[in-house]
Amino acid sequence: MNYDVINPANEEIVTSVELLEVEAVDEAISRSRKAFLSWREVSPGDRARLLRRFADAVDADLENLAQLEVRNAGHTIGNARWEAGNARDVIAYYSGAPERLIGQQIPVADGLNITIHEPLGVVGIIVPWNFPMPIAAWGFAPALAAGNTVVLKPAEYTPLTALRLAELALQAGIPEDVFQVLPGKGSVVGQRFVDHPGVAKIVFTGSTEVGRGVLAGAAAQLKPVTLELGGKSANIIFADADLEAAAAGAPYAVFDNAGQDCCARSRILVERSAFDRFMTLFESAVRGVVVGAPEDEKTEMGPLISAVQRDRVAGFVPEDAPIAFRGDAPQGAGFWFPPTVLTPSDPADRLLHEEIFGPVVTVVPFADEADAVRIANDSQFGLSGSIWTSNTGKAIRVSRGVEAGNLSVNSNSSVRYWTPFGGYKSSGLGRELGPDAPLAFTETKNIFISNR
Ligand code: NAD
Repeated sequence: MNYDVINPANEEIVTSVELLEVEAVDEAISRSRKAFLSWREVSPGDRARLLRRFADAVDADLENLAQLEVRNAGHTIGNARWEAGNARDVIAYYSGAPERLIGQQIPVADGLNITIHEPLGVVGIIVPWNFPMPIAAWGFAPALAAGNTVVLKPAEYTPLTALRLAELALQAGIPEDVFQVLPGKGSVVGQRFVDHPGVAKIVFTGSTEVGRGVLAGAAAQLKPVTLELGGKSANIIFADADLEAAAAGAPYAVFDNAGQDCCARSRILVERSAFDRFMTLFESAVRGVVVGAPEDEKTEMGPLISAVQRDRVAGFVPEDAPIAFRGDAPQGAGFWFPPTVLTPSDPADRLLHEEIFGPVVTVVPFADEADAVRIANDSQFGLSGSIWTSNTGKAIRVSRGVEAGNLSVNSNSSVRYWTPFGGYKSSGLGRELGPDAPLAFTETKNIFISNR
């Protein structure tokens, strides 16, 4: 069966990609298991060198990868270049890992004790459509560095850059079958990764609902999983903050990638005494967001990924929705939706609790520090968030109080590949990125050598 890849900005067919069936997946997993036997034996220095070459190949292909993502996912060209650069940097960063997978020598009686980090085998990586390149690389780069082989399933909507990355890996000299990209349906290819006893670990990024099913399926085999799931992150703005900076940054903290970002700060909480002033500043910032053709260098927000996603997002904004103000979006072909700001008053409103995954943000007032933390934590999710204040003590207290894996103070940055990334509560299980990521793709073996 084939899948027509659609350009979300104009609804034209970009290309057609074959979707794999279970038999082809099983064959790929069996090739991956075979390749693992030799890949794990490649010396650390050689594995590092091959990964460095892979990063160089991505660098040389950066503009092509970015243009491919513009056509496939409707990402703005600026974002797409950043995403390809992020994949390159993540591969380069973990190319340092094979030579640094250092174990311990632990003092014990009657001999010598050492620990060794051994690769798991075949790692199955399941990727969503919102950031196809970075999310793929966050999984496959540390997994390969630790000596595993990888089978990776891109999302149905966005297979093109993952397929290109696999070609670049081969070109760079990574041996055949060490890194395979297998396009297909989640219920077929993704599910097979979960069920196949030959896949040693699953890295899943996607919705909380599907993630729960992946965890349940993996439990049957006690298969380890890393889950990166949904979010409903809070952007907490205190009256003593630099309000101009907080308001200028807030649209991009939620409307970037048309709001299809697990870290989107889709709940803005503003201290009541600064609420009106913030809304005035925020309105002009929202109206300033440039929405339009993704290939235009000046564009800041493109379309949604699909008609289904646009309709889903529109379902959150019915006629009588509490709209404060909206930005613009092109008319005509393409899956467009304007930046939309809502001010729901009922704390139980689903607008404040469900992940919308589109350019829609809610703004609510809070009374004081304790109230801000309480509202921020009134969520099943806990992925990211921001705290804007000029009071350092308050910044520390609130950062400690908010139940989320990645917080920034006076900034909206979420992901830095040098630092660990992942969610609390229904936002996930485990961490990606940072110096320890390769360890999530290893077993620790303890060896005791008697001196008798
Ligand atoms: P999704 O859950 O629908 O799909 C994610 C991937 O899982 C796709 O490749 C899909 O084909 C596959 N899949 C579907 N059914 C499956 C099954 N039964 N078994 C195995 N795999 C299956 O999510 P999506 O709509 O592609 O992505 C959006 C979601 O991803 C949002 O909820 C977003 O918050 C989340 N996300 C989280 C992070 C994070 O790091 N926490 C990052 C990006 C996106």
